[in-house]
Amino acid sequence: MASYEALGASPVINASGRMTALGGSVLAPEVREAMSRAAEAYVDMDDLLRQAGARIAALCGAEDAFLTTGAAAGVVAMVAAVVAGDDPARVRALPDATWPRRDIVVQAGHLVDFGAPIEQMVRLGGGRVRAVGAVNAVPRSALEAALDGEAAAVLYVQSHHAVGRGQLPLEEVVASAHAAGVPVLVDAAAEEDLTRYVRLGADLVAYSGGKAIGGPSSGFVLGRRHLVALCRAHEHGILRPMKIGKETALALVAATERYLLRDDAAEHLAWEERLEGLRAGLSGVDGLRLAVEADEAGRAIRRLAVGVEPGAGFTLAQLVERLRRASPPIAVRSHRLAEGWIALDPRPLRPSEVDVVVGRIRAEVAYLRGATAP
Ligand SMILES: *Cc1c(COP(=O)(O)O)cnc(C)c1O
Repeated sequence: MASYEALGASPVINASGRMTALGGSVLAPEVREAMSRAAEAYVDMDDLLRQAGARIAALCGAEDAFLTTGAAAGVVAMVAAVVAGDDPARVRALPDATWPRRDIVVQAGHLVDFGAPIEQMVRLGGGRVRAVGAVNAVPRSALEAALDGEAAAVLYVQSHHAVGRGQLPLEEVVASAHAAGVPVLVDAAAEEDLTRYVRLGADLVAYSGGKAIGGPSSGFVLGRRHLVALCRAHEHGILRPMKIGKETALALVAATERYLLRDDAAEHLAWEERLEGLRAGLSGVDGLRLAVEADEAGRAIRRLAVGVEPGAGFTLAQLVERLRRASPPIAVRSHRLAEGWIALDPRPLRPSEVDVVVGRIRAEVAYLRGATAP
């Protein structure tokens, strides 16, 4: 029987977050059941994808939605829609757009790499990034100067990868762009709020199905009906290699329903319990410093930040590497390693894994301190 173990691909204890690189999310029973039901019968795919899009849009307070393989494909779809529209010759021509009005205006602090550069997703959709401002300051006048006859859209990236300070907030971007007749696209891949960006006036918004929503590797683009229809036109062009299957489509609907009906308070309480388990378990470990911290992107998430005290005799990078190679491997949040901190995310941990993570970190710190003692 096929399994991770049979393939020699070890399952990972995830203290990092819902990351595409770790398989996105693990699926709740009702989501797995939806996937399995979809696998039992043939269906008219065009019909299924339209109905699934309508259902997700209704749940999220948007006019319509388009299902994709992920937020990255969602960015490609949004750009293709605004650059090429549904003109059949232009749909076929992508990614080589040779006509005017294909600049995608992006604030400098939003030009992120989420595992691939967002700039490349824009090019794949036929767009050309026009960066405005600097990573630490974007004057509104710089944005407005870029909203000329070449601008097909503004792309706003709402993410912990993006620079938070010095960039214009979405409200101001929408006001300026709409005054110039330019649509606003939002990459909200990992965001928890499925209604906020449409409510703030964004014309299209891309989400990952496998991040906050807890669904399978997938995604959707929400927004204005006519723009969603333009995304759909590219299913017979650039989006063909990014098509979603019937099992994933049904599971994504089930995951979105479950996500929006979840008991938020109970879920946060469970996260806080696991966070406290991590904090209590690691407090007093010689060489480590701990801090409970809020999410850097402002989401309602708290994590345990872990650093190494100066003179501890080992580095944080060594600890991360030892955890990565442990059996089972433990993945931690390490994008701020250079600043001297990693973080443990309680959300993807099973309750029983809290003690495993604590025990392993204690053992590795003891080993590193012993191994490097004079
Ligand atoms: C994760 C991420 C993506 C890619 O999402 P997928 O669903 O894996 O395609 C795009 N943009 C941002 C900001 C992300 O965080």
